Amino acid sequence: RSFNFFLEKIMSNIILDIVDLKTYFEDESTGGIIKACDGVDLQMSEGEIVGLVGESGCGKSTIGRTIIGLEPPESGKIIYKGTDILMESRSNRNKVRRNIQYIFQDPYAALSPRQTVWMSIEEALIINGEKNKKAINSRVKELLNSVGLDHYISDSYPRELSGGQRQRVCIARALAANPKVLICDEPASSLDVSIRAQIMNLFLKLRDDLGMSLLLISHDLSSVRQAAKSVYVMYLGKIVESGSSEDVYENPSNPYTQSLLSAVPDKDPRIERSRERIILSGDVPSPMYPPSGCRFRTRCFAAKEICEEVPQIKQIGEHHNVLCHFAGEIRL
Ligand code: ADP
Ligand code: MG
Repeated sequence: RSFNFFLEKIMSNIILDIVDLKTYFEDESTGGIIKACDGVDLQMSEGEIVGLVGESGCGKSTIGRTIIGLEPPESGKIIYKGTDILMESRSNRNKVRRNIQYIFQDPYAALSPRQTVWMSIEEALIINGEKNKKAINSRVKELLNSVGLDHYISDSYPRELSGGQRQRVCIARALAANPKVLICDEPASSLDVSIRAQIMNLFLKLRDDLGMSLLLISHDLSSVRQAAKSVYVMYLGKIVESGSSEDVYENPSNPYTQSLLSAVPDKDPRIERSRERIILSGDVPSPMYPPSGCRFRTRCFAAKEICEEVPQIKQIGEHHNVLCHFAGEIRL
């Protein structure tokens, strides 16, 4: 790609640009190759909330984990503010990656059982280079405050906290690095329904207060609808539809997106009763043996012979891209 191409990206405030990212695993028992993330493109602008959705096992966490360096990619680019992280030296890479922090699904597993809330946040600050004891103390208080935790819980251990409080501690730890991008991997799905909205609101507040960009990962299309400005829909290692929230929810143009949306009940019981439902049957096929051609064809209500050929991405709107032979032609 040309210099101008990259210049344009920087000018348009793209903070994170994932290009043709591939992350493969080897299956331990069979030695087969699991193509968990298989050529993914994804872009985030500064301050933007981006949704990444798809059924469990389709590769969402693998993308996130590859971005922060927990999984080594096979190939591709991870460009943070114009710097291709993977081309940097190890120390530079780690420095750039501090700008990108991860919130895990299970806050209990992410916290050490032997550290109090205070110790845990203090440690995160020390890891990020803070040495001054006084500065650390005031910063821990500030971080507790910014995630809505009372100071009195700072001597508690994770087992003494509620799920929501634990996740807030994890968020405070992530914020200790002053990140510009937060990857939130199903951050509320292990929590009570009543707590979920509070955690989501906390993310929105942090975005507004700190100007961060958020990647919201969820298996549930409807849960990111309110917050996300743009949405990527993933199936078996590939992005099958992406666009603005309006494109994806008002004009879903991949049969997979349509099927996922049709599984979401309508709030109006009359509409709900009369609605045609396309239930996705069966499980996601193994990413070790994805179907040839279009990977969704074995479960697709609209599959035809041509779907045995690999589809190309079609652009059907300004930012609306669809991986389907019939992109935009199939309507429910
Ligand atoms: P999601 O987050 O969408 O549920 P994941 O990214 O966790 O999906 O997993 C995608 C696929 O990769 C799954 O089939 C999963 O079993 C496989 N996978 C993930 N991590 C590993 C690993 N470390 N070793 C082997 N297979 C893995
Ligand atoms: Mg996951």
